[in-house]
Amino acid sequence: MLLEKVVAPPLDNNAYLVIDEKNMQAAVVDPALAGEDLLGLAEKHGAKIAVVLNTHGHPDPTADDESIRKATGAKIAIFELDAPRLEKNARETRWFLPAPPPSVKPDLLLKEGSEIRVGDLTFRTLHTPGHTEGSACFYVASEEALFTGDTLYAGSHGRTDTFGGSPAKMVFSLRRLQELPPTTHVYPGHGTETMLGDESWLTDVMYPIL
Ligand SMILES: [Zn+2]
Repeated sequence: MLLEKVVAPPLDNNAYLVIDEKNMQAAVVDPALAGEDLLGLAEKHGAKIAVVLNTHGHPDPTADDESIRKATGAKIAIFELDAPRLEKNARETRWFLPAPPPSVKPDLLLKEGSEIRVGDLTFRTLHTPGHTEGSACFYVASEEALFTGDTLYAGSHGRTDTFGGSPAKMVFSLRRLQELPPTTHVYPGHGTETMLGDESWLTDVMYPIL
């Protein structure tokens, strides 16, 4: 697995290009406003972007979903509960986007346990509500890699006080991630990478967190 990360302003979203080097097939995880950079990186490596995986439906991580689909024909995937957000975002102007994003109809509606194959890489969908109702993490077991979006960051977790958020569900979700091997590499939606075993605060997470 070859991993490229682009930090996209203005909210410093982490956008990932994940390439299976054997087949040169790639996934984008949360494109944010890094579409052009991600397309350039894919071209540089000679990789084909086959799928865009959205960890959740907020307008910042999903902003360039449609531009990547247009350029590559990639399929857009999101956990089914967050799918309606992709159309809702198109009706709302946000200060951090130059314009409302185009309405996006996802190609793949993910459920708990859904697996997306990109070359030899398999992304397993873990439903981790709390930041939004349909937040998900993507786990690549063969690489011990976990893409956590706005669920888990190094040293903290995503907000639970916006529409669709739930502190109680966030506790459930963070506890469930602890069942993965401590050597799992965590690639979050904001901030630096970490190792699951280094996030010792997770063992103390208790309901309610505010
Ligand atoms: Zn978010």
